[in-house]
Amino acid sequence: IAISALTKTFSKDKNSESALKNIDLQIVQGDMVALIGPSGSGKSTLMRHLSGLTLADKHTPGIVKVLGKPIQKRGRLDKDIRQTRAQIGHIFQQFNLVNRLSVLTNVLIGGLSRTPSYRGLLGWFTEEEKLAALDSLERVGLREFALKRASDLSGGQQQRVAIARALMQKAEVILADEPIASLDPESSRQVMETLKRINKSDGITVVVTLHQVDYAQQYCQRAVALRQGEIFFDQRVDALKTEQ
Ligand code: ADP
Ligand code: ADP
Repeated sequence: IAISALTKTFSKDKNSESALKNIDLQIVQGDMVALIGPSGSGKSTLMRHLSGLTLADKHTPGIVKVLGKPIQKRGRLDKDIRQTRAQIGHIFQQFNLVNRLSVLTNVLIGGLSRTPSYRGLLGWFTEEEKLAALDSLERVGLREFALKRASDLSGGQQQRVAIARALMQKAEVILADEPIASLDPESSRQVMETLKRINKSDGITVVVTLHQVDYAQQYCQRAVALRQGEIFFDQRVDALKTEQ
């Protein structure tokens, strides 16, 4: 991931503050990085630029690359950029599962390039795809929950299903925006441990926004702190630990 000179101003008012101010940030493949900072500091705006959901200010030289490719594009998306986006997995605070479908189907959907109609969905998938989905569930410790309804799982388990869906998608980068903000401490630990495990074993780059510094210290290799749209520190976590 390479961000250079990224500025984002939401308001058209010239005097208003930018949500992101001239951000430069590089993240190497395989790293696990926490984005921390108070509410309103720009964390999710930065994340949305990494997925192309939010576009940087026009007429600025800002560039955002993910997996070495420019990810920001106005107008129609070409094949290249769609391919790059397909390699980015998203995890949100609200899990974003389809509640009335099974856990397995929710994971299978991760492997699709477009959302189909839900009717008779499981029948659409090949045995091979189902085995791959079960394997993804295995890797987040939820294989035995495959045939339960998504909504019957706890919040922490649902978040791990969302991670399994990203694995099914063969994501090389996972962007997790406040994945534990609505979870209790034990579920939070399990979700962070799951992210850590797939980061280590599969070399998936993980960028995670967090409110709590202690989770960043415990699970991430690097912490980037934002304040009012600027990076005000950026450190390897082991350095952070020795300072305290
Ligand atoms: P957090 O990321 O801390 O959970 P939010 O992103 O929901 O909080 O909101 C942070 C701030 O951004 C709030 O002051 C909110 O009013 C503002 N905000 C978020 N989305 C919008 C929007 N679409 N339009 C205007 N303001 C927004
Ligand atoms: P964080 O994720 O750190 O809480 P955000 O990225 O949500 O911060 O917000 C950063 C700033 O950008 C805030 O001042 C917020 O009000 C503003 N902002 C975020 N999204 C929008 C939006 N869609 N429209 C207008 N302002 C926004």
